[in-house]
Amino acid sequence: MPAPSVPVEIGEAAVAELRTRLRGDSIRPDDPGYDEARLVWNGMIDRRPALIVRCAASEDVVQAVKFGRKHNLLVSIRGGGHNIAGNAVCDDGIMVDLSLLKSVRVDASARRASVEPGCTLADFDAAAQAHGLATPLGINSTTGVAGLTLGGGFGWLSRKYGMTVDNLLAADVVMADGSQAHASATENDDLFWGLRGGGGNFGIVTRFEFQLHPVGPGVLSGLIVFPFDQAKSVLTQFARFTGTMPDELNVWMVTRKAPPLPFLPERVHGKEIVALALCYAGDPTEGEKLIEPLRGFGTAHGEHIGVQPYTAWQQAFDPLLTKGARNYWKSHNFSRLSDGAIDTIIEYAGRLPSPQCEIFIGTIGGQTARVAPEAMAYSSRDANYVMNVHGRWESAAEDERCIAWAREFFAKSQPFASGGAYINFLTQDETDRIAFAYGATYNRLVALKKKYDPANFFRMNQNIKPA
Ligand SMILES: Cc1cc2nc3c(=O)[nH]c(=O)nc-3n(C[C@H](O)[C@H](O)[C@H](O)COP(=O)(O)OP(=O)(O)OC[C@H]3O[C@@H](n4cnc5c(N)ncnc54)[C@H](O)[C@@H]3O)c2cc1C
Repeated sequence: MPAPSVPVEIGEAAVAELRTRLRGDSIRPDDPGYDEARLVWNGMIDRRPALIVRCAASEDVVQAVKFGRKHNLLVSIRGGGHNIAGNAVCDDGIMVDLSLLKSVRVDASARRASVEPGCTLADFDAAAQAHGLATPLGINSTTGVAGLTLGGGFGWLSRKYGMTVDNLLAADVVMADGSQAHASATENDDLFWGLRGGGGNFGIVTRFEFQLHPVGPGVLSGLIVFPFDQAKSVLTQFARFTGTMPDELNVWMVTRKAPPLPFLPERVHGKEIVALALCYAGDPTEGEKLIEPLRGFGTAHGEHIGVQPYTAWQQAFDPLLTKGARNYWKSHNFSRLSDGAIDTIIEYAGRLPSPQCEIFIGTIGGQTARVAPEAMAYSSRDANYVMNVHGRWESAAEDERCIAWAREFFAKSQPFASGGAYINFLTQDETDRIAFAYGATYNRLVALKKKYDPANFFRMNQNIKPA
């Protein structure tokens, strides 16, 4: 985590003066609501900003940036507050909280959406699906659109329609000097290049404009759950199947202890399982034929598959991913799932250190792989699978054991990874992986940072240093 700059003491008079300029409000440590406002998704993060500015308009963001500069404060940016590293909140500095900025405007005929940076995926999906439209987003609906987009973004629709950043058409940004800029393919195109994967390094985005696509509203989707003793066979077939499936189909794998899902026999609850989660973004009748081979991967404990609203499928995993638990992640990209990778996954899934820990493989490829690596800051176009070692548990007493498991598995699976890493899955102790994560685009990102934020004002992030 970056050290705070030596802040000038923020006096009450300065805060009172700032308040007169805001359409939203500001919260100090002694104010009611402070503790709730500083909490983020990962319960391991416990930071205390000196000031939280709850922005109600882009002008509030400008005021917050100018205030941060004037008082030499470390600035953090909060979209949905989901980032595992917890960079949305800082100690002693100013937290620019965007969560009140929740408008989504859909132009159905142009298939475009204008989205404010406090929107969750659920907010955006609901507005777009009212018109039978969507853009690729992640798989947990309480995640913020802003952070997800700025790091790359992938989910069920990505094989068909690409990464979230592949669907970003333009953005409005408050820059480090407090000025406002518009970035698109035709205006400030270098900034636009950097925003599409470069995280919060270049400025604070106050509006995103996205391309939308026809989706659903009903999609064939659901889960098939296999016994863990069939893991080798299921994973080997999963690797083969996902390597050739059509773009409309997406299948992810998760291995963990079974939650008490109603379609699973009670004797399975709490036991290790291998689950395949799938979504078909096309005609469900066609999808039914395509998913049939998955059922033959083993003798399933049970399945729950059907046509359901796309928005419901987008929320299906929310109950397992609620805010407040302690979380530690490690992740690798894979271009293919080798036998060695599969064996290592099975070995470590066989010794999960807590009932909520899991290893998941998110499948991408398809359209995500058809963009040149240098086309934008996000460059991992050879990542057909993104693996997340999701350590999750409830009490601080379990920290050491769960983190050790995640780190050990990460190290053992490293030889099978293809390189690069998903910046949005990096924890706060992985700053040494940032250049590696960006790979081909890192040097250009450094040059861009030098141009747009030479003093590294925006450094509470997976930081690209200007020098
Ligand atoms: C349970 C869970 C499931 C997930 N699933 C997926 C998934 O399926 N696919 C996927 O791609 N990712 C997924 N992610 C990762 C997710 O994309 C990142 O955690 C992302 O950073 C969350 O964005 P946020 O706005 O909620 O986060 P925040 O913590 O609010 O922000 C993260 C960082 O983004 C930057 N930022 C945020 N808003 C702005 C802004 N308006 N302008 C400039 N910078 C900004 C800041 O640097 C900030 O520190 C998941 C995360 C979680 C916790």
